[in-house]
Amino acid sequence: MKISGLQKNSFVDYPGKISAVIFTPGCNMDCFYCHNRILLDNKYQKLISCDDVLNFLENRKGFLDGVVVSGGEPTLQKGLLPFLTHVKSLGYPIKLDTNGTNPEVVKSCLDKGLVDYIAMDFKAPLYKYKDICRTDVELGNIEKSVDLIINSGINYEFRTTLAPGLNVDDIVEIAKQIRGAKLYVLQRCRNEKGEGLSYSAEFINSWLREIKSIVNSVETRGMSFSA
Ligand code: SF4
Repeated sequence: MKISGLQKNSFVDYPGKISAVIFTPGCNMDCFYCHNRILLDNKYQKLISCDDVLNFLENRKGFLDGVVVSGGEPTLQKGLLPFLTHVKSLGYPIKLDTNGTNPEVVKSCLDKGLVDYIAMDFKAPLYKYKDICRTDVELGNIEKSVDLIINSGINYEFRTTLAPGLNVDDIVEIAKQIRGAKLYVLQRCRNEKGEGLSYSAEFINSWLREIKSIVNSVETRGMSFSA
């Protein structure tokens, strides 16, 4: 298990919990808006030892409510399951962030009871996936991950970054793909300088109206609205 970053506490990455966030290097996508790019390039990887991270988590018991494993794409890590098993043995609830490309790994995590919350990015309607993630993704794997997560019995969310190029029809199409989901989150896209894009409230509200009846709950995250 390679770890390239540790955020010692976060109030926003695990709903309702103060969490530590662990970042793994490498990703099998190349989303044009990715802001974790430094984690994706082997040249820039400065790895942190797993033992150091586990010792940190051991010492923070009682101060942290949970652990988020994020990326890059954590399901690419060969040592993911043993690592999660170790974190679980410390008593922490775990949230896993994934792009949904490795349903077998997601299934193993679920079958072994190693994750308590999954956040899966649903990048685009399937017909536009390649436009956003600039990679030939096996779309059947995305669908398999959605099925696994919806039927998992644990808490979860699907989330879409409102990237330029996605329109309301695309968002409705994604909502249909995750029909009945507990929670669908629309999140703000950032430009190459890291500045969040601004959307008109009318624009976002019209999108929310369209998808409210398709999923159980919908939220916006990190949005700033223009007049
Ligand atoms: S899936 Fe996530 S980490 Fe990977 S390229 Fe896209 S935004 Fe970056």
